[in-house]
Amino acid sequence: MKSIKLALLTFVLSLFVFAGLVSAQDKGYVGIAMPTKSSARWISDGNSMVKFFEEAGYKTDLQYAEDDIPNQLAQIENMITKGVNVLIIAAIDGTTLSDALQQAADQGIKVIAYDRLIRDSANVDYYTTFDNFQVGVLQASSLIQGLGLPDAAGPFNIELFGGSPDDNNAFFFYDGAMSVLQPLIDEGKLVVQSGQMGMDKVGTLRWDGAVAQARMDNLLSAFYTDKRIDGVLSPYDGLSIGILSSLKGVGYGSADQPMPIVTGQDAEVPSVKSILAGEQYSTVFKDTRELAKVTVNMVNDILAGNEPEINDTTTYDNGVKVVPSYLLVPHSVDISNWEEMLVGSGYYTLDQVK
Ligand code: BGC
Repeated sequence: MKSIKLALLTFVLSLFVFAGLVSAQDKGYVGIAMPTKSSARWISDGNSMVKFFEEAGYKTDLQYAEDDIPNQLAQIENMITKGVNVLIIAAIDGTTLSDALQQAADQGIKVIAYDRLIRDSANVDYYTTFDNFQVGVLQASSLIQGLGLPDAAGPFNIELFGGSPDDNNAFFFYDGAMSVLQPLIDEGKLVVQSGQMGMDKVGTLRWDGAVAQARMDNLLSAFYTDKRIDGVLSPYDGLSIGILSSLKGVGYGSADQPMPIVTGQDAEVPSVKSILAGEQYSTVFKDTRELAKVTVNMVNDILAGNEPEINDTTTYDNGVKVVPSYLLVPHSVDISNWEEMLVGSGYYTLDQVK
């Protein structure tokens, strides 16, 4: 009797285990193509997604392309061959994926553009990101706050940096920032001594900090040998670190030559440390855990045949269609609120940034 009961129990238990395995596999297979590991935010995006997808019972394939376009394309083609159900792509160049995405669509694979819009393709089903225009507004607002505007008389000398021209976001950041800065430039309170304005002049290919540092070196030697520079609009922490090191190279960051106001984005650890050291003025915090969560929920809905939640149907025209989007809220971070924003939210431990 006892052994029959035991056998029955084992049988029932194994049924549960089997059901668990089946449902884990049944949830689907998700290909996640991230641009590079050279920036911590993408590592955090990738890790959060794998964690949340696996907790929800999905299988994942996470790949990083080290900012190499053919490499990312090959990774995506490989995911399609392996038979993923969904592709989540943070593109390196938002315009180069059309053929692969056509192939995906032909196989019924859904595509979510992750943080960066994929352009020139009808085969982009959804877009999850932050309010990118607002990121630029926050950066410029922090820049003018650091300069003491609108009260201070000025005029203040500033220079502008943009992100990578093959990343759609870079234009949104720049336009958002200029919506705040342009009126002050028109009023004469802000002066761009180099005259270099517009994404064609201030863009930084592949978001490369070394490129930004070299451009800052050139600006300083061409326009600021007998004038002070008061502020730099930088759209990303990796550029800010390069810009700050160029500024330090010519003596800024001392008592008689205070550091100009330099902005940033992503709340990367070196920049948070720089803010604490009184060098970088601010950054924009985008909680990548939230973006990962929204994306996982979207995949759940898509694969269950439900309409996923979106909150924007007008902003992101990719050249072929307006891609239905879910936008999250970015936050400005500086010396006044870094602890509450970054440690209080559990994004970093105090040890990581101190
Ligand atoms: C992202 C930013 C990031 C930049 C460089 C942009 O597409 O939205 O968060 O700073 O790429 O990686």
